Amino acid sequence: MQPTKPHAALLASPGMGHLIPVLELGNRLVSNYGFNVTIFVLQADDSTAQSQFLKSLHPTLLNIVSLPSVDISSLVAPDAQVAAKVAVMMRESLPALRSTINSMNFRPTALIVDLFGTEALAIANEYDMLKYVLIASNAWFLAATIFFPTLNRKEEDEIIKQKQALKIPGCKPVRFDDTLEAFLDRKNQGYDEYVRVGLEIPMADGILVNTWEDLEPTTLKALRDSKLLGRVTRVPVYPIGPLTRSVKPQVLGNQLMDWLNMQPLQSVIYISFGSGGTLSANQTTELAWGLELSKQRFIWVVRPPMDDDVSGAFFDVGNGHDGTPTYLPDGFVSRTKNVGRLVPMWAPQAEILSHSSIGGFLSHCGWNSTLESIVNGVPMIAWPLFSEQHMNATMLTEELGVVVRSEELPSKRILGREEIGKMVRKIMVYKEGHGIRNRVKELKYSASKALSIGDSSFNSLSQVANDVNSGLQFLKSMPQGA
Ligand code: UDP
Repeated sequence: MQPTKPHAALLASPGMGHLIPVLELGNRLVSNYGFNVTIFVLQADDSTAQSQFLKSLHPTLLNIVSLPSVDISSLVAPDAQVAAKVAVMMRESLPALRSTINSMNFRPTALIVDLFGTEALAIANEYDMLKYVLIASNAWFLAATIFFPTLNRKEEDEIIKQKQALKIPGCKPVRFDDTLEAFLDRKNQGYDEYVRVGLEIPMADGILVNTWEDLEPTTLKALRDSKLLGRVTRVPVYPIGPLTRSVKPQVLGNQLMDWLNMQPLQSVIYISFGSGGTLSANQTTELAWGLELSKQRFIWVVRPPMDDDVSGAFFDVGNGHDGTPTYLPDGFVSRTKNVGRLVPMWAPQAEILSHSSIGGFLSHCGWNSTLESIVNGVPMIAWPLFSEQHMNATMLTEELGVVVRSEELPSKRILGREEIGKMVRKIMVYKEGHGIRNRVKELKYSASKALSIGDSSFNSLSQVANDVNSGLQFLKSMPQGA
């Protein structure tokens, strides 16, 4: 039997930062184009934020299928980077993905994988499916990821050993300090995995990117220009973003949101380091003092400090728990109880950022967090920790002008309380923050315009949907059993 509707299967890598845009893309394919959508996710422990989040989605029009969790303990080095762990998990789950697709009544017309799922493109080939990669990050990150693997040894050495910038044809160079850790350590598994991913992305039929034309016009042009980066990209690039979660009307009875309702307009700064970010003990102390010095209202997603791992909560961030954190400076909780709220581990971020009482966001600059801030017109303090967050922070500062940041990277030294207090006051209060606040409002408008009917991101996704539909028509025209 042939399916009557186009059916897209989407594969999400572990981590909320990967899952959220995949789900949002699935929702758009169902709501705007009448697709059937199956989302494959790797099973996670019941207590994790991912698991709780997926439960909270019911009822959903998406068909969410869990692939069995995999044990990678014998396959990754103890010091492997998060990227390597995620990539190995994805590889180990390929047999389950293949057998699940094989057993489906209707073969999906297209397979859309995210960054670390590129090895599954081979499965799409086996089953004659169209195949796409979804880059949940931006076009500049895509450019760096596909360009780096084309360098020869000498060119790589200029970056790794001589600390030069990664010069990408037609794009802003990536400074050494912003280069992905994975590219800088050939001995780490993360290096091999990232290089492989960079080479596999252009093997798809198209690349979907969580950005929009007006946000990154130069990079997108370079990615398409065969005299520049287009010779590496080779396939169409579809900027379809911003893909951010739409927020349901607020449920009464949630203590945090009730508190937020009582705060003045744009008076609260929200602090979060994404799904996995953690700070050292000293840095946590300085941040707490910095918030007090700023004299601003705040919501802070707090996590127990980790001194030697900035991505310490990536795989097992829980869904929060009650109780007062014991690692904050003495008296901090009681001194700030009228102006601040601490949320252990995990907060409803999309809901918080869309609230009119929020006036700023101190963020690790994960791309989802960045977009959630932009679509709500919230200015940011950039506090990148790992992965492509450094590139994002640079783009937000130098290209888009919507953040303040410290002169030195927070990964190089501990940021002191005075500096933190000043940055907070700059986006929340000071006159010099005006430009930033205005600019982010302009980007909010630009984001919403890109998604409107007939505009760039809407048209890009429609193009993909049409191609998948044509794939379906082709299947239907084949003799049964062919
Ligand atoms: N998130 C959330 N609550 C938290 C922390 C994170 O809802 O306490 C969500 C956030 O809204 C975003 C995602 O998790 O959609 C994190 O993705 P991002 O790309 O910002 O960073 P990553 O976690 O991948 O580093």
